[in-house]
Amino acid sequence: MSELEDLYQDIIVDHFQNPRCFGCMKDKDAGAKLFNPLCGDQIDLCVKIEDDKIKKIVFSGKGCSISQAAASMMCELLEGKSISEAKELFELYQKMLKGEKQDDELNELGDLVALSGVRKFSARIKCAMLGWEAVQKALNDYLQGHYKTPDCQKCEKDCISKESNTHNCCHISYEK
Ligand SMILES: [Zn+2]
Repeated sequence: MSELEDLYQDIIVDHFQNPRCFGCMKDKDAGAKLFNPLCGDQIDLCVKIEDDKIKKIVFSGKGCSISQAAASMMCELLEGKSISEAKELFELYQKMLKGEKQDDELNELGDLVALSGVRKFSARIKCAMLGWEAVQKALNDYLQGHYKTPDCQKCEKDCISKESNTHNCCHISYEK
């Protein structure tokens, strides 16, 4: 592996082992739970929106290092961004995974550039996309007024099971 690939690998492992923005939110304005049947990854996303800005975004989930590290990097990047900025970043991220952008054109993506190598492994692209697909679903549902906050009294950080890292209090199930 090249030095750059080593560095990228370290960033991915760090986010996987120490996920940023990990948790659950009781007073969320939007959310989505997605499941990737190809790999078994789960992402449960909660978003707090104020004045068309992502005020807070957290996730919980389990699965492969790529799916979980991608969600961690993504949440870190999107906090404080507007909904339209989030959509632009998603487009740039998709171009990265299609190999349409070089690494030096991806500075806006922050740590997510470490996942640029995923483009060589088509089976893993779905893993790298799962968190972003959850954001798109959450934001689209929010904008269309479709999102209903689940009626869950325990929906706090504490409700995440330490063993499985899954969010086990809400009854809504993961969508494929
Ligand atoms: Zn995966």
